[in-house]
Amino acid sequence: MREKINNSTLFNKMGQNRNTIFLVMCLMVHVGYFSVFFIIDAIPLAIINAISSVFYILFLLFSKDREKSEKATVSAYFEIIIFSTLCELFTRNTFGFIYFVIGMVPVIFYLSPSFGNKRFLFQAIGVFSALMIHHTKLLIPDSFFLSLYEELLPYSRIFNFVNLLITLFTILYTSLFYELELDAIKNKLDYSSTHDPLTGLYNRRFLYDAIAKGKESQISIILLDIDNFKKINDKFGHDKGDEILIQLSSCIQEEKEYSFHPVRWGGEEFIIYYKDLDIDSAYECARHLCQLISEKIILPDNTPVTVTAGLAYGKRTEFDSVLKKADEYLYMGKNCGKNCIVWHQNENEFKF
Ligand code: GH3
Ligand code: MG
Ligand code: MG
Repeated sequence: MREKINNSTLFNKMGQNRNTIFLVMCLMVHVGYFSVFFIIDAIPLAIINAISSVFYILFLLFSKDREKSEKATVSAYFEIIIFSTLCELFTRNTFGFIYFVIGMVPVIFYLSPSFGNKRFLFQAIGVFSALMIHHTKLLIPDSFFLSLYEELLPYSRIFNFVNLLITLFTILYTSLFYELELDAIKNKLDYSSTHDPLTGLYNRRFLYDAIAKGKESQISIILLDIDNFKKINDKFGHDKGDEILIQLSSCIQEEKEYSFHPVRWGGEEFIIYYKDLDIDSAYECARHLCQLISEKIILPDNTPVTVTAGLAYGKRTEFDSVLKKADEYLYMGKNCGKNCIVWHQNENEFKF
């Protein structure tokens, strides 16, 4: 369970990959367009694409981590606005370079979550730019690179189509990445709201949810408390105490025979919640676990760590009273010398 804690690293990695793929794709488009415009002798457009390619190489070199890759992506967004404006000037709104800007308005939102509300400003700039670019041909005199424009005109339909395809593809793939990222965030939240960060065991919230949704009618619970844990902390340090809590959690998770929920109930108290398990079998589990703990967890002064447990059985719907019983037994065990399991098969007949 514990390895799931690392999924924030995965989340950052995903964000960085998503931006890197975007930047690589833009670089490829510019290199491709540089070659095409060079071949058809549209030198001003080839130069614009060559300069853009250099920018993207720099953006990629700069994108060393998630944060930097987002900054590079936002810079790329402004590059796209300038690039589209220039290309639309030369092609007089016939090649569909404006699609890039229109497409980037939603895309910039997905690609730069760390920028928070600033993303709305970026989008507003994109919308305003698209409206302006739509009218670029009105800004230039008819004579502006007229012969180049006339040479380019026969290619306008195909370029228009390719630019539309590139834009749609970018929107689709960024939405897909965004969805994956939301899933990762959701899993991360689900995990941290139901697990204890130190031991990776379930927490109280999880147990109460499991009880509310459970189908089992009878339950057995073991309430387990480490003996003299305060002294262990005082003598060997808090870090050693933490290590013992983690070791003890591993011991609990070694139980494979019955279906159960291992829960860190609080500080050095644990609950092992068994579904539909009779009290005798639960006692066997508790006995085996206590033995395993004292064998496996040894303090630096060579003494074993021991635990005291209260074991109770009852209806799932009466969990609180079953827990109360287990707590009373645990208290009895602590008062009777610790390092024992307290439970009963018949009312009033306690076993140690
Ligand atoms: P008893 O045998 O009666 O259970 O005595 P105890 O010392 O184990 O119990 P007590 O309730 O007096 O002390 C529990 C200690 O557990 C106190 C607290 O500092 C320690 N503790 C609680 N949570 C953690 C934790 O996450 N890490 C560490 N290292 N210590 C913890
Ligand atoms: Mg204790
Ligand atoms: Mg305690």
